[in-house]
Amino acid sequence: MNIFFGQIFALFILFVIFTPIERIFALHKEKKVFRNGLRTDVLHFLFNRFLTDIGSFIAAVIIAILFSFLVSSEFQALVASQPFWLQFTEAVLIVNVCAYFAHRLAHTVPFLWRFHTVHHSSEQLDWLASARVHPLDQVFTRAVVIVPIYILGFTKEVFGAYLILSIFHGIFIHSNVRFRFDFLRGIITTPQYHHWHHSSHSEALNKNFAGQLPFLDILFGTYYHPKEKGPESYGIEELMPNGYLAQLKYPFTRRT
Ligand SMILES: [Zn+2]
Ligand SMILES: [Zn+2]
Repeated sequence: MNIFFGQIFALFILFVIFTPIERIFALHKEKKVFRNGLRTDVLHFLFNRFLTDIGSFIAAVIIAILFSFLVSSEFQALVASQPFWLQFTEAVLIVNVCAYFAHRLAHTVPFLWRFHTVHHSSEQLDWLASARVHPLDQVFTRAVVIVPIYILGFTKEVFGAYLILSIFHGIFIHSNVRFRFDFLRGIITTPQYHHWHHSSHSEALNKNFAGQLPFLDILFGTYYHPKEKGPESYGIEELMPNGYLAQLKYPFTRRT
């Protein structure tokens, strides 16, 4: 129950922070606060956390059993003895590389795409659209990321600090803001960068998989970030049901 109240509180705080910013600095001015799909995204925000946490816990137990032979307490003590900033940098790099490939697989393996397509079904982007993620899609990404983190054994402080920053950043890059952040170009992902990933423009298809570090897209040939223009339309060709439960069920439904 506490988690549920925590999610309501987080929703309220984020609403208070992002609503005025998106109103004043809107990228797509026609987008309303009470847009299509808002109710569904609120339900994703409130309830996915439980489902993702349960799924991640099960994934973590399985990973701990499967990979325990790779864990060395001496090696983990060595990792944990490094300065905070060094552990933090290592954790950011390792998580980003793993998340990049998990995300790329989610777009290229049809079974995984069935789940990830829920996240791409938003036709208007704002901070709350970040919540529209199928819980099993999120569990898959987390499972891929957990393996090296578990083996290396970073301290809780390092991982906790990174988790908070990355959750906030993940919400921010979906927001409907027109700031271009050109000084961050190629260094850290920005709203415009991730908006291209969600766009329905054919030239941006299967581009910008990086969650935080665009150099991974540059390195692996999936970078798309034109200077002169931004994306104008978002979404997928498939027809996604509007309701929350229908979206949870969507990957399991047969298609012709
Ligand atoms: Zn994607
Ligand atoms: Zn996204």
